[in-house]
Amino acid sequence: MGFVVAIDGPAGSGKGTVTKIVAERENLISIDTGAMYRCVALECLNQGIDCTQIGRIEKVLEKIDIRLEKEQGEQKVILNDKDVTTEIRETRVNEVVAKFAAIKSVRNKLTPMQRKMGEKQDIIMEGRDIGTTVFPNADVKIYLECSVEERANRRYKQNLENGVESTYEEVLKSIKERNRLETEREISPLTKAEDAILVDSTNLTIEEVVDKITEIIKRKRI
Ligand code: C5P
Repeated sequence: MGFVVAIDGPAGSGKGTVTKIVAERENLISIDTGAMYRCVALECLNQGIDCTQIGRIEKVLEKIDIRLEKEQGEQKVILNDKDVTTEIRETRVNEVVAKFAAIKSVRNKLTPMQRKMGEKQDIIMEGRDIGTTVFPNADVKIYLECSVEERANRRYKQNLENGVESTYEEVLKSIKERNRLETEREISPLTKAEDAILVDSTNLTIEEVVDKITEIIKRKRI
């Protein structure tokens, strides 16, 4: 087993950005598990399958191939040999992904894939259940918290930058709904592992969060 850093937290807490920077600084392979759930949701959407059709979803899971690759410094998400890095971030995927992620057979497929990724390399893995379910013995566990209003604010600004049309109210509503689904689901709900270190990013800059987490990792690594 390599050195494992687990980062969990809700959507918009800054996990994605922070994880990438910390990975560069600390020479860790960064793994975005949300992208894997997004691939399952996208493949089902493309095949016209909704989240109640468990039999059809299981057929998709039998054949699905998901690869997280680095190409010229950029993280690429490859689903069944197709680059879906941008597509998995579309609103239609945002709207359904938490529902697919709540399905037992989906989690049973992705969790072992994620564990395998930590076998032979030093990793920093981000998601919702990394410190609780995927790597309960991770060397470092961080739970990144942030107020729901600030998370919506960040997502809204991100949308503006990316030319995605939305209002702050819409974003806030969708973040609240996703949060409800993720914290209330039966399997692997979003929750802080008992031994995770809580970092609240509400009033911190990305740089400040990165510094805090890097310091925690350095302390554990020597
Ligand atoms: O992190 P991101 O927002 O891209 O994740 C997409 C979705 O995947 C989340 O809304 C969540 O429902 C699900 N997810 C999960 N467990 C993880 C990572 C993501 O259930 N470890």
